[in-house]
Amino acid sequence: MSEERMNITTVDVCPCGLVMHQGDEDDYDTGGAESGICCPDCGNEKFTTVQQLQAELHTTAKQIGWLKGDKARLSKSIQVRDNAITALIEVHEAELATANAENEHLCNTIDATRQDMADMRAGTPEGKLLEAKGTCTWRFREPFDGDEAWDAECGATWTFIEGGLKDNGAVFCLKCGRLIKEIRPDKESDHE
Ligand SMILES: [Zn+2]
Ligand SMILES: [Zn+2]
Repeated sequence: MSEERMNITTVDVCPCGLVMHQGDEDDYDTGGAESGICCPDCGNEKFTTVQQLQAELHTTAKQIGWLKGDKARLSKSIQVRDNAITALIEVHEAELATANAENEHLCNTIDATRQDMADMRAGTPEGKLLEAKGTCTWRFREPFDGDEAWDAECGATWTFIEGGLKDNGAVFCLKCGRLIKEIRPDKESDHE
């Protein structure tokens, strides 16, 4: 064994795992080595000193630090994008709901018009009257002073002692004689 003390610059590490001290020539082999010395276990001639390994470790640690920073920045930008997408979806869902409500209202109107046209074509008494005079819209009003009331298009307000239009067999407006077209708030959308 050499008297020279080992330090990180004089200790060679072979990829095979063997550790050799540069101050002790007995640690190395020479047989067939192009550079003069080789690892006695595996014949490899390229060694790395502990100092070089330490430097590599330091570089690797630095790179890990950068990668962590990149990851944090990336996570943040992903979060920002996710929030933007969520907000966009909410806006679109609200627009869709509004469009659906408008569409439903339109469909109801079309259905009512179709029924009117069917009545006219069928030549029923109601249809004939509708054709001749049209309809009078009776809009249901929230109960006032305990009474249910309807505001007629022709300018009159009607109440029944009990029940609604159908219960009382009301088909024609009592003032203008046209066919009653009943509108109740719960059957109409807010756009009416
Ligand atoms: Zn070796
Ligand atoms: Zn009327």
